[in-house]
Amino acid sequence: MLHQALSRLYEAAGHLDITADVFEKLKSPRETTQARLVIRMDDGASKSYPAWRCRYDDTLGPTKGGIRFHPDVSIDEVETLAFLMTMKCALINLPFGGAKGGVQMDIHNLSATEQERLARRYVQCFAKVIGPNRDIPAPDLYTNSTIMAWMADEYAAIVGEVTPAVITGKPIALGGSLGREDATARGGYYLLLHQAQKLGLRPGARVAIQGFGNAGKHIAQLLGAAGFKIVAVTDSKGGVQCSSGLDVDKLISAKRQGSVTSLAGSDGVCTLPADELVSVDCELLVLAALEDMVHAGNAARVKAHVILELANAPITPEADKILNAKSIVVLPDILANAGGVTVSYFEWVQNRQGDSWPIEQVHARLKTKMEQEGDAVWTLAQEKGITLRSAAYVHALSRLAGAIGAQDMQHFLIAEAPKR
Ligand code: NAD
Repeated sequence: MLHQALSRLYEAAGHLDITADVFEKLKSPRETTQARLVIRMDDGASKSYPAWRCRYDDTLGPTKGGIRFHPDVSIDEVETLAFLMTMKCALINLPFGGAKGGVQMDIHNLSATEQERLARRYVQCFAKVIGPNRDIPAPDLYTNSTIMAWMADEYAAIVGEVTPAVITGKPIALGGSLGREDATARGGYYLLLHQAQKLGLRPGARVAIQGFGNAGKHIAQLLGAAGFKIVAVTDSKGGVQCSSGLDVDKLISAKRQGSVTSLAGSDGVCTLPADELVSVDCELLVLAALEDMVHAGNAARVKAHVILELANAPITPEADKILNAKSIVVLPDILANAGGVTVSYFEWVQNRQGDSWPIEQVHARLKTKMEQEGDAVWTLAQEKGITLRSAAYVHALSRLAGAIGAQDMQHFLIAEAPKR
């Protein structure tokens, strides 16, 4: 996976004048820590789970990235996602490097108390890696604000100081930021609306959404309220479709009870096999589930004109080529889902200042960021005649290369300074 992700970096470098030092720094992670988390289960037995935290690059600041609990988590996945975070933070111009964490496990097999023990054990094992000026975790797949609260509490107990800025995505009552919950979807939504005319999208356009968790649910709400028609949705158990539009509130209550699939059979709603979502007839496809969901085997079947990548790395490089040949525009992950880390950054700033911003301020600042950086990427793509993904990498890489170059110059000057 990392090799695949780096191929996009090398491609972007072809459009810039980059020194070998930049690649030397970015070709592999700075630090990956591995642990085995042993916890006591409710029945008295003990169980252990492999876990990782990767700090990929900290040129631009303390590293930042979510922690996921998922059976497919691996060191390769964690390092790849940490690389994507490095590029994302550079692209959106945040003073952060990139990181990621993960535990290889199925959260559905754990009770709430077992989940709490696991979250606390994660922090015990990685307490020396994380810190408000070093590495700041956040929620990701199958982790949420409650898990972040347990983690922040454990960190405070270990260091002997209340340290809210060590973790973002916390509950509001414990220093979380207003607007963090739907930030990933809202950032993608602001970007999409800002570029809607150029993308040929109008309210009323049909939307298919893969994944109905934090990112998928909120984008459905935002797009539904803006007049888009949600015609198909899937989650890990399957999917539903309705050509006259699905009711988002009903989807949310069905998901709360287990899966969106329970809506099938009511009001003209039909079942949709999960792997058929990408080929649904629609104008906009939102990918909000896992990696590699659009690949060489199904990319040719995509009918949407525009794809919004709220998930990380949902399209493989081979699929990118097929989509590009079909003139399908992809709003790429490192730009389209950057709303989450942007509001995480706002949370970190508020925690450090002992402040709390009104929701209007959070939304306004998020909107400005998404529109500004979205425009920069769009302009680069036009100027260079490249895809938005390539342009996003060029934009991020030029910032990172500038910082790495400035750092090297500083080291050079220190090395060359006359000895007294
Ligand atoms: P989540 O755990 O809240 O939801 C994941 C959803 O995906 C669930 O509805 C699950 O049922 C569904 N799913 C799993 N396998 C599926 C499959 N094969 N087909 C269809 N649906 C499937 O996770 P999330 O926070 O919404 O994250 C989703 C994606 O967005 C991930 O790639 C994550 O890295 C990315 N992301 C999330 C954030 C954030 O702030 N939450 C920020 C940036 C990127």
